[in-house]
Amino acid sequence: MGNVWIFIEQDAGKIAEVSLELLSKGTELAQRLGVKTEAVLLGKHVSALAKTLHEHGADNVFLAEDPRLEPYSALPYTKVVCELIRAHNPNILMFGATNMGRSLAPRVASTVLGGLTADCTALEIDDFEDRANSRVMKDRLMQIRPAFGGNIIATIANSWGDPQMVTVREGVMQLKEPKPGRTGKVTPVKVELTDAETVVNIIERVKSESKVNLKSARIIVAGGYGAGSKENFGLIHKLAEAIGGEVGASRAAVDAGWIDHEHQVGQTGVTVRPKLYIACGISGSIQHRAGMSSSAKIIAINTDASAPIFSIAHYGIVGDLKEVIPMLINAIKGKDQ
Ligand SMILES: Cc1cc2nc3c(=O)[nH]c(=O)nc-3n(C[C@H](O)[C@H](O)[C@H](O)COP(=O)(O)OP(=O)(O)OC[C@H]3O[C@@H](n4cnc5c(N)ncnc54)[C@H](O)[C@@H]3O)c2cc1C
Repeated sequence: MGNVWIFIEQDAGKIAEVSLELLSKGTELAQRLGVKTEAVLLGKHVSALAKTLHEHGADNVFLAEDPRLEPYSALPYTKVVCELIRAHNPNILMFGATNMGRSLAPRVASTVLGGLTADCTALEIDDFEDRANSRVMKDRLMQIRPAFGGNIIATIANSWGDPQMVTVREGVMQLKEPKPGRTGKVTPVKVELTDAETVVNIIERVKSESKVNLKSARIIVAGGYGAGSKENFGLIHKLAEAIGGEVGASRAAVDAGWIDHEHQVGQTGVTVRPKLYIACGISGSIQHRAGMSSSAKIIAINTDASAPIFSIAHYGIVGDLKEVIPMLINAIKGKDQ
């Protein structure tokens, strides 16, 4: 059986956190299958990153270094990754569902004629009953993700061959602590590219960094459509400020124009795991819960005692957020004095 591979996204020598999260998950899957975890690292002068990858669980790093592999470009990356697949036949290949991963993974899948499931929210190993061909396939990758607008959770299995490919969004898999001093192998990869594969010349890149960092926030105060207006949504900002948290939002609040999309939590927003998540005027749809249900403690404030958010909340306050939030702010400020 082939190994479990993780495509490592790096930009100017900085590894994307989602790649390390996938190494954590990949290591778990590899242990379950009794195979090795291998990282696929492409770029220019990136060999120093192998140490970090070993410490995060990679047994081997396929290292492809070439000036033409920096910055990312679809054609040369697709060529190098596909040639590696043909040479080594991995069982599983995981990509971050980032701009880079979403560009590369489908190109790789269509070139090697593999199956690809996008935006998985869970990954498990199980036997797959392939009813069409009356057979049971041992130890296949169960690729779990919401489908049909989030109304069902689908389990998808690839029955026609390896690698079984997936993309996973940032924050979905838990990043495990690295093991300092852990070592592994590095396998240099010969990069052979034709003029046709290096036809794109990147002249300039303009980057804008997001000012919102919901992913690493310890406390998030999130507001939903129950806020009722942009003015009332100001209460969410005030509570976040009082408690030292970041502001999150449901899609309904974003669609209403009360806050920017970069604050959206959920299936089509950010996935978060803060120590404390305070959901104010949020009903708790499956798409919202997909992005916050792993929070350590959840407090919900909602006028409707039967709102689904209460089914996952550790503490619930049934009440109008316009009354409850000012009381909470006063209590927090009183405690501070
Ligand atoms: C493909 C797809 C992807 C999606 N992705 C996301 C996503 O990433 N994130 C996301 O959030 N949604 C997402 N959605 C939308 C999702 O289905 C819900 O529509 C959305 O989460 C609802 O937001 P809400 O809870 O703020 O609003 P509502 O469902 O309208 O709930 C408002 C809540 O506020 C309560 N309320 C009303 N007044 C008050 C008050 N004064 N004080 C306290 N409580 C009050 C109500 O009782 C109600 O429970 C997606 C939908 C689809 C189809």
